[in-house]
Amino acid sequence: MNSDSVKIPQATAKRLPLYYRFIQNLHSSGKQRVSSAELSEAVKVDSATIRRDFSYFGALGKKGYGYNVSYLLSFFRKTLDQDEVTNVALIGVGNLGTAFLNYNFLKNNNTKILVAFDVEESKVGTIIGEVPIYHMDQLEETLAQLKVPVAILTIPQSAAQSITDRLVQANIKGILNFTPARLNVPSAIRVHHIDLAIELQSLVYFLKNYPD
Ligand code: ATP
Repeated sequence: MNSDSVKIPQATAKRLPLYYRFIQNLHSSGKQRVSSAELSEAVKVDSATIRRDFSYFGALGKKGYGYNVSYLLSFFRKTLDQDEVTNVALIGVGNLGTAFLNYNFLKNNNTKILVAFDVEESKVGTIIGEVPIYHMDQLEETLAQLKVPVAILTIPQSAAQSITDRLVQANIKGILNFTPARLNVPSAIRVHHIDLAIELQSLVYFLKNYPD
């Protein structure tokens, strides 16, 4: 994020990539404006929240007109630094890690997994989805060389904290944690935690207990 966006509340900032993806689609289909009701329906965020969020972006929708798609697109591109690719490292090339390497994220936004690490000798030296896999012994050296600010963790839970400590030492600024571990990091480091098992369990719970 660039310095212009510091005043955007965190909850709003978290919705930015969602809005961005939708606005990109609208723009490529040639649409020039969009109402908050249309946006609300598409991204499943209530329209009052959308109007409040968009007021932080300096985008003032007009009644009966809606928002200007080109303006929004250039705002999101600038705010999300989409003109510049952010390099990402992936640690742990197991089943989940392999899926991410094959998928990569470049299609949806300007983040790219540039390099991956594992301890398993049979994986080191191979390439998956164009991403080379290095040994964990080369972590610090490689990250310093490539100037990678973000890491994805798809290692077993037991290894998560010690690897996080190494990443912090190696100047990583953000971690996307797919392990169930709750990580301790200095306050300057940002961790986003995605625990797929918990998400699934919570979905099933809601289906059973709030069926309508
Ligand atoms: P697989 O089927 O390949 O074992 P998995 O996702 O079921 O994958 P996990 O045990 O979760 O298996 O391990 C994920 C990956 O993390 C594996 O490729 C494993 O070699 C790697 N790994 C385990 N410990 C470490 C570590 N300390 N540092 C880096 N990678 C590790």
